[in-house]
Amino acid sequence: LTVVPDPRRQRRARLLSLAVEQKADAIAITHLPNVRYLCGFTGSNALLLLTARGATLYTDPRYTIQASQECDCVVKVAKGPLWTDAVKEIGRRKVRRLAVEGDRLSHDSWLRVASLLGKSVKLQSTQGLTEELRLVKSGEEVEAIRRSVKLNSQAFQQAIRKAKPGMRENELAAEIDYRMRRLGAEGPAFETIVACGARTAWPHARPTAQVMERGQLLLVDMGACLDGYMSDMTRVAHLGEPSAKSREIYEAVLEAQLAAVAAVRAGVTCGSVDTAARSCLKQRRLDLFFTHSTGHGLGLEIHEGPRVGANGGALLQAGMVITIEPGVYVEGVGGVRIEDTVLVTETGVEVLTPTKKELLVLAS
Ligand code: ZN
Ligand code: ZN
Repeated sequence: LTVVPDPRRQRRARLLSLAVEQKADAIAITHLPNVRYLCGFTGSNALLLLTARGATLYTDPRYTIQASQECDCVVKVAKGPLWTDAVKEIGRRKVRRLAVEGDRLSHDSWLRVASLLGKSVKLQSTQGLTEELRLVKSGEEVEAIRRSVKLNSQAFQQAIRKAKPGMRENELAAEIDYRMRRLGAEGPAFETIVACGARTAWPHARPTAQVMERGQLLLVDMGACLDGYMSDMTRVAHLGEPSAKSREIYEAVLEAQLAAVAAVRAGVTCGSVDTAARSCLKQRRLDLFFTHSTGHGLGLEIHEGPRVGANGGALLQAGMVITIEPGVYVEGVGGVRIEDTVLVTETGVEVLTPTKKELLVLAS
């Protein structure tokens, strides 16, 4: 007989024990990616209550069928506000201290919940408990991210063929999103970034009606969402032959990106990975143009822990999935960022992104 592990039940047990360590005897989760992680529910309105007596998911009648099929815990469909029903159950279960996600609940919600609970139950703020569990991915999660990354790279491959002088940034962005959907994605993980020319110096440029021209840099930052899991990649192409200056910046960023990837390993600090990229750019006097952190974790959300930035003291652990994405942005000239999604392993790193990193020259 093989015992099938029940990862969600284990996650809930671990979360409740983290809450108990903070003297609470129950915890209510409302941040939707955390709800999904803990019980499988993917709807847009949810409250998951965990106490020693078990887990109950509250949602509204739009999700009656969906919740019963997705969740591996008790489901209650509320007619009114979810908190009203949850608070009644909290009373029945004799909860004394209820932990909530203080970093996710609005101030108004906090006041409303406190007044519903009354004097017998103390409301307690916690930060990032489920997020802490989510830092290290299970084998299944890594596989889901791997599939998402692969799909994202395929969509890039299909869409970038169409890029040429005369095309608008938003046309290419639409092509990318279309290709993702055709390949089976639930959608883009974030608003696809396409920028050309001097606009590539905006690290988070939104695609506009700007027409691409020969002699320009073209930056694409895209991610897919597949089975709830995100991917994230940035590639830079050049429309026609690049200038010596563009090539120089590109080579410097690529060198920094490779150095940071090479620094990734379980047990090192996030800060040391950031330093690897930054010191590389410093040697070329380009570090002042690198204005953001080197990377971030991703999973059920596009940005999650750990932050891979300067002074990041957190240690990388095997099973974390992070991005490595140094960039150089020169106002009026342009910007280059190269981003991969990578898996931290005991001995080093596995780059999940299969797309090549040489400067892509788009001849037309
Ligand atoms: Zn990105
Ligand atoms: Zn990113």
